[in-house]
Amino acid sequence: MLEITDLHVRYGRLTALRGISLTVQEGEIACVVGPNGAGKSTTLLSISGVLSPAEGTITFDGQTINGTRVEDVARMGISQVPEGRHIFTGLSVEENLQVGSAVRKDKDEIRKDFKRVLETFPILGERRKQPAGKLSGGEQQMLAIGRALMTNPRFMTIDEPSLGLAPKIVDRVYEVLIDLREKRGLTLLIVEQSSERALKAADTMYVLRNGEIQLHGKAADLQDGVEVHKAYFGFTEDHENEVMI
Ligand code: ATP
Repeated sequence: MLEITDLHVRYGRLTALRGISLTVQEGEIACVVGPNGAGKSTTLLSISGVLSPAEGTITFDGQTINGTRVEDVARMGISQVPEGRHIFTGLSVEENLQVGSAVRKDKDEIRKDFKRVLETFPILGERRKQPAGKLSGGEQQMLAIGRALMTNPRFMTIDEPSLGLAPKIVDRVYEVLIDLREKRGLTLLIVEQSSERALKAADTMYVLRNGEIQLHGKAADLQDGVEVHKAYFGFTEDHENEVMI
């Protein structure tokens, strides 16, 4: 469904991505984990059309999308839940959801999607007239996911869904994400700093460090976490003990 090939992205003289390649199959949950500054957000911003790559290609259903405008990427069925959620705290919950459907014209379908989002997240229905700034962190994450769903996506990227949330709330967010895949057939690309929770939910896992993919494979094959840990921190067998001291 989504294929990234040899992607290079630069911010001026700084190279943030150095030739990464990754594939997300339809119906899959793929996860990219990596430390601070690895290039995770840069990868997602390149997919959504916010950043233009210096080299390489991104295809969606076989069509090249790099260089495509953000609104057109959204119209193709790709939606992004950004890092830090970026909800509009002064707007009501309902208005925030309407922002998600602003580029659409299919009014009846928008109404149905709105209903579906409130069924998925009943708390948003209860609070629909309240300012979004009054919601807890977990509820704001639900709202950010709900807003992304209002674009009626087939493919959703989520930047650090667990950021700043208590473990119980993180579990709930992941339950929702897994449900969206199971019940709506949504394809998901999640990026996280911590690999533990993401490994449990993902079908495939990529470890990104310093702008390069260090390791990738089926999440089930990487479950014990040792290989992921080494790739994440750059340990080698020979130096593992040294570095850990
Ligand atoms: P984090 O977990 O901190 O969000 P990340 O893996 O998402 O990290 P990116 O935000 O993609 O990493 O950053 C990759 C590199 O690009 C880092 O070295 C970062 O400092 C740099 N970078 C990111 N955004 C910009 C920008 N707007 N201008 C200049 N450099 C940037």
